[in-house]
Amino acid sequence: MILPTQQAERPVGAVALPENWMPDSWRGREALQQPSYPDLTALQAALDELQRLPPLVTSWEILALRRQIADAQEGRAFLLQGGDCAESFADCESGTISSRLKVLLQMSVVLVHGLRRPVVRVGRFAGQYAKPRSADTETRDGVTLPTYRGDFINAPEFEAAARIPDPRRMVRGHARSAMTMNFIRALIDGGFADLHHPEYWDLGWVGHSPLAEEYQRVVTGIGDALRFMETLSGTDVHNIDRVDFYTSHEALLLPYEEALTRQVPRHWGWFNLSTHFPWIGVRTAALDGAHVEYMRGLRNPIGVKVGPTTKPDELLRLIDILDPNQEPGRLTLIHRMGAAQIADRLPPLLQAVAREGRRVLWVCDPMHGNTESTASGLKTRRFGNIRSELEQAFDAHQAAGTRLGGVHLELTGDDVTECTGGARDLTDADLARAYRSQVDPRLNYEQSLEIAMLIVRKHQQ
Ligand code: PEP
Ligand code: MN
Repeated sequence: MILPTQQAERPVGAVALPENWMPDSWRGREALQQPSYPDLTALQAALDELQRLPPLVTSWEILALRRQIADAQEGRAFLLQGGDCAESFADCESGTISSRLKVLLQMSVVLVHGLRRPVVRVGRFAGQYAKPRSADTETRDGVTLPTYRGDFINAPEFEAAARIPDPRRMVRGHARSAMTMNFIRALIDGGFADLHHPEYWDLGWVGHSPLAEEYQRVVTGIGDALRFMETLSGTDVHNIDRVDFYTSHEALLLPYEEALTRQVPRHWGWFNLSTHFPWIGVRTAALDGAHVEYMRGLRNPIGVKVGPTTKPDELLRLIDILDPNQEPGRLTLIHRMGAAQIADRLPPLLQAVAREGRRVLWVCDPMHGNTESTASGLKTRRFGNIRSELEQAFDAHQAAGTRLGGVHLELTGDDVTECTGGARDLTDADLARAYRSQVDPRLNYEQSLEIAMLIVRKHQQ
């Protein structure tokens, strides 16, 4: 049951609500990658509870992010989106959350300083609990079980009971998302993100990093600039001690997303209030599929992953469906082609979108097209390929007269060894030392910072 709200009047001149759309109209379409819950009564009870629980974000914040994405579309800001491939309930603890925040803050400082423009910070967190999988089952030692689909749905342990989809996990995931948000908001409100105090974000091993010197130069440069401006104006520089942080996740598990889709008193239309910035993954981006149907009705800014098989005419139709009124800040296209394919696959898409004069924010995800397995069967990504895709992305945009306005990364603030290469030149043999991801391999702290520095260098060329 949706509690009645006083829906705001649509302002004069505002675009119309999408036709024939409701938060549940996706149910008439094919919904890929959904679990089949064995107990439908328990599912309904969980969804009823979720519908009554408070939202995780507000429409005010969502519309503020939308304006910032509109700025990034015009080249006035750069989007930094990053976090775990899959959050886990077990990792909802202070150390992991604050380390991830520290890395993102450090990267954003490097980017602000080097790009000379604001950075829009969006975490892949506080709800990144549902994963699309390429196979429905997994076999180990002759035993076959349903695949792990993220902590929202089932548990990673390779045991029959753990892999049964449990709808109560959505309620637990909502609570964990709220705890994550609460901690991040409190840290930021308390001054943790204050640019006057970049030492708050030091991670234990930063002093030993080959990148430490370059990072320190950036931090000193920013400190000098702040002191200079404060001397000039005679007061503190405002808005420097408070940065905005937004959340995002793949809007994959549609019953959950629907339960958090609400109307609010002050803003017209429907908002997904579980996150600021939901995105559609490549596996669920079919034009006539349930995910596209669900997303087209939201007022949130939305993202769509674009892979190497997407054709230009298909992409234009997708843009028509998701952004029919050509609204600033509405649509972000996140391309993830792979280092070997980007030079062939990306330019025709960029040209088609540019030819039609469609305004989108182009973002590069250099992770998901570059996943491979080592001889011992571990999933990894080679830093050289990640770097190469990112560099080629900048070149392709420049050649097409479009603009790369952001980056989407899987990273962690922990000292993991999941991707090879980088400043410490991790090898396949190093991976076993600290491989912790349940799903995709993430950049560690140093590798993440190296990417930020690389973006700056590429931009300055
Ligand atoms: C992801 O972002 O974790 C993911 C599954 O990406 P994609 O949809 O691009 O494969
Ligand atoms: Mn992933």
